[in-house]
Amino acid sequence: MNCLETRESLSAYVDGELPPDRATEVAEHLSSCDECAREYEHVLATVRTLREELVRHRAPDVLRARVRSALREERLAPPARVMRTPGRSWRIPWHVVAAALVVAVASSGITLLARGGRTPQSLLAEEVLTSHIRSLMPEHLTDVRSSDQHNVKPWFNGRLDFSPTVPRLEEQGFPLLGGRIDYVHGRPVAVTVYGRRQHVINVFSWPVDPDGDAAPPPEARHGYNLQRWRRDGMEYWAVSDLNAAELGQFTALLRGSGAP
Ligand SMILES: [Zn+2]
Repeated sequence: MNCLETRESLSAYVDGELPPDRATEVAEHLSSCDECAREYEHVLATVRTLREELVRHRAPDVLRARVRSALREERLAPPARVMRTPGRSWRIPWHVVAAALVVAVASSGITLLARGGRTPQSLLAEEVLTSHIRSLMPEHLTDVRSSDQHNVKPWFNGRLDFSPTVPRLEEQGFPLLGGRIDYVHGRPVAVTVYGRRQHVINVFSWPVDPDGDAAPPPEARHGYNLQRWRRDGMEYWAVSDLNAAELGQFTALLRGSGAP
């Protein structure tokens, strides 16, 4: 295999998409050609950075869809284009993907900052939503994983200066998944996690000055629904990509279940 063929195969090689005999040929060439080996390192580094960025910005479905569509367009690109620039053809996909990713991440960040008027409530909503999205990353959802409130509630003891309510709503179709501690509004807060089919509902709670109960209307941001309420000196936020009607049903159950 010559340099040209190797470079054309690098992207597929990194992705593990080459047939075994072809992959062996690439590996053999890389072990004997410093220049191609350097290009290979460069592709590897680019892919690694992209993967880290994807995990760090594990983002709303809109963003994932944009990246996916960028990938798809690239895959559908006519082969003629690849033939015109054979030596560099392997660069095109990852650069296009990288550019699409940067634009998508940046624009979603800008949207986050631009919307909502930057009131304290709006900033708080963004913080809660960011925490919700972060929790959807692998291994970030729960510190204590249990469907039993008698495991979840005591877990918070000694970890917080308040005790969150953890009602059991499984029979109503909202199984408890667990709990965790998160940081919102400059303080540690309790998060109880519930499920609804494939959807995750995070319920945030923390103490506030007991100056009146409130339950403003629910709001939608970036494809997620948020419901806030205050009762008995506690602030609550429920966040999910579940539809607004079912999230409303959930928060009504939560608020009617005794404590919140
Ligand atoms: Zn070479």
